[in-house]
Amino acid sequence: MNKVIAIANQKGGVGKTTTAINLSACMAEKGKKVLIIDLDPQGNTTSGFGIDKSKIENTVYELMLDECSIKEAIKKIEIDGVDNLYIIPSNVNLAGAEIELLGINEKEYILKNAVDYISDDYDYVFIDCPPSLNMLTVNAMTTADSVLVPIQCEYYALEGISQLMHTIDLVKQRLNKKLTINGVVFTMYDGRTNLSNDVVATVKENLNTRIYKTIIPRNVRLAEAPSHGLPINIYDPKSAGAESYRSLAQEIIENE
Ligand code: ATP
Ligand code: MG
Repeated sequence: MNKVIAIANQKGGVGKTTTAINLSACMAEKGKKVLIIDLDPQGNTTSGFGIDKSKIENTVYELMLDECSIKEAIKKIEIDGVDNLYIIPSNVNLAGAEIELLGINEKEYILKNAVDYISDDYDYVFIDCPPSLNMLTVNAMTTADSVLVPIQCEYYALEGISQLMHTIDLVKQRLNKKLTINGVVFTMYDGRTNLSNDVVATVKENLNTRIYKTIIPRNVRLAEAPSHGLPINIYDPKSAGAESYRSLAQEIIENE
């Protein structure tokens, strides 16, 4: 089962949010019913779908603090041409959650207990993680069936990866026996540089895990889309970025 997929890498700016937004949108485009959970106080997934972070009543924060139900926290994405796509949004309030959850029983399972109620309603649930290995990321990993790891094609790509793999291992041993590594997806690949090719080769040599054949290219349309509040398949459906996320969605579906 690979229904609930956490997108995690504690390294900042590697393409977690870009992958979360565009992979979910491309899954939805293929007719899958998808929920995306923005588990990052930066709320970039939320704003990337054109949602005003300051105006939302129920976010993943209210959900985790038991101030609303999961059904109250889920919002339909309302973008022309987008169907089947739902979000639990986030904003900066979530930054305080770690402290507020201190001392709460089973705080590692708060998100999981909520998602278990509704996961049957969706084909896929993606969780966009913050760039740290904190209690929010642990909550994502106890909720998930598997972890998808975006790796940016740059010199320090492998930095922190062994720590991430160790964290996944610990969560698997102690908190969520079914957790697996879904795979690695390379992002921001620039075929004109040797560096991108070297990184891909090094990671393949060093990581004993599935590596998706689809490689996400560096594509300016992917960087522009969030400022228009649109996923890439709507913003520029024929761009290389859109094609690559469609292809990743297809690979993930075929891996079932
Ligand atoms: P954080 O750790 O802060 O949450 P992240 O891992 O979610 O970051 P993104 O926000 O997805 O990373 O990407 C970082 C920056 O790189 C953003 O400005 C994004 O628009 C840009 N970017 C991501 N992927 C691509 C790509 N394939 N081509 C061009 N720009 C990209
Ligand atoms: Mg992000």
